Amino acid sequence: MTGSDTSVQQDLSSEALIVKLVERIARRVDDEKEYLTELDSKIGDADFGVNLDRGLTAVLEELDGMDVESTFAAEIVETVGRVLMSEMAGSSGILFGGGLMTASAEIKGGTDAESFVAFAWAYVDHVEEKGDVSIGAKTMFDAIVPAVNLLSKSVEHDERSPAETTGAALAAARRGAKFTSTLEAKKGRASYVESRSIGHPDPGAVFTAIVFEEIHSLVQEATDQDIAADVDDPL
Ligand code: ADP
Ligand code: MG
Repeated sequence: MTGSDTSVQQDLSSEALIVKLVERIARRVDDEKEYLTELDSKIGDADFGVNLDRGLTAVLEELDGMDVESTFAAEIVETVGRVLMSEMAGSSGILFGGGLMTASAEIKGGTDAESFVAFAWAYVDHVEEKGDVSIGAKTMFDAIVPAVNLLSKSVEHDERSPAETTGAALAAARRGAKFTSTLEAKKGRASYVESRSIGHPDPGAVFTAIVFEEIHSLVQEATDQDIAADVDDPL
């Protein structure tokens, strides 16, 4: 892990914000890899946190060698996906990495709110197709879909500030991750333990909530607005 400064200036480009987000997610995973792996040990093969940490460490090394300000956002995201896909073992590398690579096409024309929503849906579609997954299978999908639904609706209605939007999406991701505790795993290695997976949250869903925590904290800092993430969705 690098010890880079992760404070946010309010005039950063989308490219710089994306890199900052990746650095912060990598830092969180470094802090919480034992916890994530422990969750995977309850229901899967105990490699998730370590796997993710290895992938993200390789991503940081790759980004370190890039001239971020002269690289388009889509190319940065595509690079993150490619490195995750090649460095991570297990199903999650293909799903996370491949999802980012495919979805990066949606922000080629610009990085406004609508493009990010299209990006998020393309990511969801990729996971759904490659993972052959649906809601209720006790995977990251259970946290991503409600959060992206929320983002999408908020941007469409255009009544919320960016931080209100990411706060509501975070609340949805957390609810989704919590909901996975009640489910029996139907996908990935966790499905091998059948009903013994009940009572433990899915590590991929917990990681998804962590990603939304970092998105929300970055958006709050970048827009200088404090919004608690415990609001229920009125939309
Ligand atoms: P593996 O199951 O191959 O050991 P990892 O440990 O790398 O995979 O990742 C586990 C996480 O990946 C799970 O917690 C789950 O959220 C997600 N996952 C696994 N399989 C699928 C799938 N088919 N569809 C969606 N998500 C999946
Ligand atoms: Mg695993």
